[in-house]
Amino acid sequence: MFSPPQVVLQGHVRLRLTGIVSEDPLVASVEWVKDKPFDGENDVLKATLLEAVSTMQNLMMLSPFFREGISQFLQSGGSLFPPQVGDCGIGLSTADGLTQQQGLEELDVLKRLNMALTLLKKDLDIYKLQASIAKAIDEKISGEQRKFLLMEQLKAIKKELGLEADDKTALTAKFRERLKEYKDGVPEHVLQVIEEEMTKLQMLEASSSEFNVTRNYLDWLTSIPWGQYSKENFDVRRAQKILDEDHYGLTDVKERILEFIAVGRLRGSVQGKIICLSGPPGVGKTSIGKSIAKALNRKFFRFSVGGLSDVAEIKGHRRTYVGAMPGKMVQCLKSTGTANPLVLIDEIDKLGRGHAGDPASALLELLDPEQNANFLDHYLDVPIDLSKVLFVCTANVVETIPGPLLDRMEVIRLVGYISDEKMHIARDYLEPNARTGSGIKPEQARITETALSVLIETYCREAGVRNLQKHIEKIYRKIALKLVSKDAEIREKMKVVSVPTGTDEDFSRPAAEVDDKAEDKIKDDECLESHERENVKDEDQLKSHEVSSEVSSEVSSEASSEVSAEVSSEASLEREPNEKETEEQDSTSSDGNAISQDSEELQTPKSDENENVLSDGKAEKNVDEMHHLLRSGVMDKSSIHGTNMEEASDKDVNNPEDSSEIKHESVDDSVSEEPSIEEILKDVEMIVVDETNLSEYVGNAVFQSDRIYDQTPVGVVMGLAWTAMGGSTLYVETTKIDEGEGKGALQLTGQLGDVMRESASIAHTVSRAILREKEPTNSFFRDTSLHLHVPAGATPKDGPSAGCTMITSLLSVAMNKEVKKDVAMTGEVTLTGRILPIGGVKEKTIAARRSGVKTLIFPKANQPDFDELSSHIKEEFDVHFVEHYMEIFKIAFGEESRNSEASLSAAESCSTSTEQ
Ligand code: ADP
Repeated sequence: MFSPPQVVLQGHVRLRLTGIVSEDPLVASVEWVKDKPFDGENDVLKATLLEAVSTMQNLMMLSPFFREGISQFLQSGGSLFPPQVGDCGIGLSTADGLTQQQGLEELDVLKRLNMALTLLKKDLDIYKLQASIAKAIDEKISGEQRKFLLMEQLKAIKKELGLEADDKTALTAKFRERLKEYKDGVPEHVLQVIEEEMTKLQMLEASSSEFNVTRNYLDWLTSIPWGQYSKENFDVRRAQKILDEDHYGLTDVKERILEFIAVGRLRGSVQGKIICLSGPPGVGKTSIGKSIAKALNRKFFRFSVGGLSDVAEIKGHRRTYVGAMPGKMVQCLKSTGTANPLVLIDEIDKLGRGHAGDPASALLELLDPEQNANFLDHYLDVPIDLSKVLFVCTANVVETIPGPLLDRMEVIRLVGYISDEKMHIARDYLEPNARTGSGIKPEQARITETALSVLIETYCREAGVRNLQKHIEKIYRKIALKLVSKDAEIREKMKVVSVPTGTDEDFSRPAAEVDDKAEDKIKDDECLESHERENVKDEDQLKSHEVSSEVSSEVSSEASSEVSAEVSSEASLEREPNEKETEEQDSTSSDGNAISQDSEELQTPKSDENENVLSDGKAEKNVDEMHHLLRSGVMDKSSIHGTNMEEASDKDVNNPEDSSEIKHESVDDSVSEEPSIEEILKDVEMIVVDETNLSEYVGNAVFQSDRIYDQTPVGVVMGLAWTAMGGSTLYVETTKIDEGEGKGALQLTGQLGDVMRESASIAHTVSRAILREKEPTNSFFRDTSLHLHVPAGATPKDGPSAGCTMITSLLSVAMNKEVKKDVAMTGEVTLTGRILPIGGVKEKTIAARRSGVKTLIFPKANQPDFDELSSHIKEEFDVHFVEHYMEIFKIAFGEESRNSEASLSAAESCSTSTEQ
């Protein structure tokens, strides 16, 4: 490669141009310019020179260019001669040409040196700055590089360890893995959506919000158990067994369920049916639902729609909303993991009204077998097949269930239980469950039949058994606390026992606790050591005497002190046996009667001696000792008193069996291992809850009887009501307020609803007609202002079924005649006195039974309902089915009415008259 020739010029002397001699070749005339003379020894000059040289040295370190310049200067004969240094410094500096020319023209050496120094210093500063800039930049670059490198390494490591594949790839891999589980269960159109979403996910930035939305969507889509079904079991016998195991009675309900399963068996599926269990709270609707799921081997999922007003709860939110979620059904499928669970929809009668959309129609879409094979959840946005899901709904009353929903349901009524049934449920289901639920063993506690019966009759009189269950659970919780406290108490005492109490001679022990084995040992020992013991006997007796008298004084002075009782009775257990004790014991027990004698002389030196020896006897567990003490009452809470202890000891002495139970041992064994709570509580007496101590556990009875009157006075009649909570008896009371010509009026109280108010006014009219028929001259209703009240005033009531009761009450006042004892009636009345059917026959019958009613009056049209009732509910009632009020009149007032036709015409005629 061609490189242009380079010429290096170096100045030697200063010349000044004086003229041009010829231009070609260039010849000029010059004059030699000499430096001004200078003093080489001048200090200032020297110092300036040195400073200039040292600056040059520094510059050489910082700048390679300068370094090269200096080396050329030295090679070409440069020296540290002050004029040369000045010239070199100026020449190598980065100053501009003009400045350098000025330096060239300067003939004063010191000035030139100064000039050079200034320029060099400036250069040095520049180079220093350049170096620091270079350094900072270097640092920055290397820091970033380092970080980058480390990040790359980290990624590589994570990848290697499988901790984190690329985020998106890991996600899609996870989703694909899930899909693999469903094999071919995922419908084609759903697979397509999933694929599209996965591709979209790959495109999106991981930090974007849309990425999260897509990821969540995919998560839900792949969490639905596509095509996963649990294998159904249509075994009717097994189902019967499960239903019986879980529920007492409910025969008709169980039968309906079995029929349902049988149909499933024949058809191969139970789809297309929605069961609705209706009845008061706590009658077992939910638990029957669970049992059906168990019987059919389906997964169980429950959700309540009571008060639900947001359609999104059922159909899900659209994905565009922040925090959007799918509806309850999709959540159900995800959580049960099968596409054919049993879904219990609770409180369907209390469905709310939505401001945006109607939850009832959303529910219809969900439940309707025609529609739910392609149920579209707003969030999921792909149709899901719910046709295999079995829906069971629960409701308290069917009347408030939206019509279209009710149409599609098969209603099974659970009406509530009578006392007898409750008793069985409590005894066979609730009590054992509550007991095991509290961790209590059957031998530790029980509730007697009478206590249960009191509980049922006076605490828990509602139709269901939930309240009863709560009460029984409460009782067992309290028992659990008692047992655990007892355990703690016993442990506490065991600790006292296990604390070493000092030397052998410390305490005496009641001779009552001497045991037979120990006695034998005493005798054996006696034979062996008869001689030696004579020597030590006196001395030890003396000691023992001192100690035992101390203790006995303690016992007597603090007779009620727990500690002293324990100490005196048990402390000696802990002593180490020794020779002396053996000897002492030998001496005291040499006589066969010695032991009993000693026991009578409680706290005597001899008893102490016995004790000492006994602690050397064949030992048994200290725990047993504690148990014994408990049994004998020594440590019982109520009897931990010195006196009681003595009594106990005496008892033991008198009863050889008792005293033989006392086992003596070395304490070392007993403290080594903590006994379990079962061991401790093994011998604690069973806690029995009966009618006498029931209130200790559940407080005072909340319910008084429905019966306010034993014998209803004039104007008071018992009716029967039915509510969502079950049946109950209620009274209708009427009294006179005022009398006077034309003052006839009727005032109503008792929170009566419109329907009930109307039936009161109908009753008033019908009563007038009947009275006119019976006593044509009686102007009672025209001239009397009446007040009709239905207690309890705080409970709102409505319904037409109290019509006949109201008439009877009004007539009772009008005729001043009491109604028959223990009669209760129900029935809607028309203006002509006809009795129309009512609802809730079973509930009302149960309520009447509870209130001790003997005579029941029902509308004739309700006779089939009554006949359907099981015999244990309806037995013993004198029941009448009536078509017209006059029949009731006859039963209630025991009066022979005229022939029914006549009365009928009388009543009918009254419907047209307004005044009597
Ligand atoms: P509901 O859903 O009707 O309000 P639940 O099903 O929750 O009532 O029942 C309340 C409790 O009463 C449950 O623990 C249930 O097991 C129990 N129970 C109800 N009826 C019976 C019955 N016939 N036999 C045994 N237990 C019952």
